[in-house]
Amino acid sequence: MPLQSYYHVSSEKGLSSVTSLIVGSKEAVLFDPPFLIPDANDTVTWIKNTLSTQNQKLKAVFVTHHHPDHFFSANPILEAFPEARFFAAPYVLAGINNEYDDKVVYWPSIFGRENIPEKPRKPDPFEYSFFILEGDPDSPVHLLGPVQGDSVDHTIFWLPKERTLICGDTVYARSTHVWVEEVESAALLEAWQRTIQLIEHLNPMKLIPGHIESGWEPDVAADLAHMKKYLSLFGEKITYAPKKAQVNELYEFFKNSFPQADKNLDFFLGHLSNQFGEGGKVWEENRHQNAGERGRERLQGYWFS
Ligand SMILES: [Zn+2]
Repeated sequence: MPLQSYYHVSSEKGLSSVTSLIVGSKEAVLFDPPFLIPDANDTVTWIKNTLSTQNQKLKAVFVTHHHPDHFFSANPILEAFPEARFFAAPYVLAGINNEYDDKVVYWPSIFGRENIPEKPRKPDPFEYSFFILEGDPDSPVHLLGPVQGDSVDHTIFWLPKERTLICGDTVYARSTHVWVEEVESAALLEAWQRTIQLIEHLNPMKLIPGHIESGWEPDVAADLAHMKKYLSLFGEKITYAPKKAQVNELYEFFKNSFPQADKNLDFFLGHLSNQFGEGGKVWEENRHQNAGERGRERLQGYWFS
């Protein structure tokens, strides 16, 4: 029996981030807990409902990359499933450690203490490049990474037998603007485009993106086309533009280029246009990873290029 996969979408306030669940014959694994506590509480109910028919155990929770909207409210889930281990690849944990002390102060100041745990649990490092669930030895799950997505430190999880890919924020569904605020160099943009190529060549039948608005369904071809268009326009308007555009011009350009993506515009486009527009206000709070200083070798060294 192939592994089954499911996903749950956080509230719009929680940036419509996606939590996914892989279910085998005896065990299950969760990916990317929500940003906010109320979404995490909903997720606990969803996990229980999803697992209730066959009684599988939640064995582990993985995090795809260091961004808080993919792990900050793991606490209620780990409390509800105390046997579950909490894991991330070592390079993801390093990214979390780079900014943890600042982010645990910053995000409650935006969302309020009732929405963000006081001490978000940090994952333990997972040192293997794959895992296997009890009862499903013929369905390994591979960790591919680090690869570039909306941060430098993504793991994508590939189920070769099921041809399913859990993408984290290497792929945003076509319903949603893409967080490009950290794409500070041509090397970062190129590395992300290489990740999209890699995903295309894996030829997944099913893809679970890092963000999708409720009411939309993931679609391999349409969501990858969205990413290619987004990154290509970003290169044209920003990375390779002969002259810096105005803040308003960038905001309007991306808004009009993706009219179906109409949620959280101030967050996604506000940050995009301020980070890269002439005279924009740069989000200094988010400059922890020194991403712009990374060269090709460190970003896409798996190409030996
Ligand atoms: Zn995200």
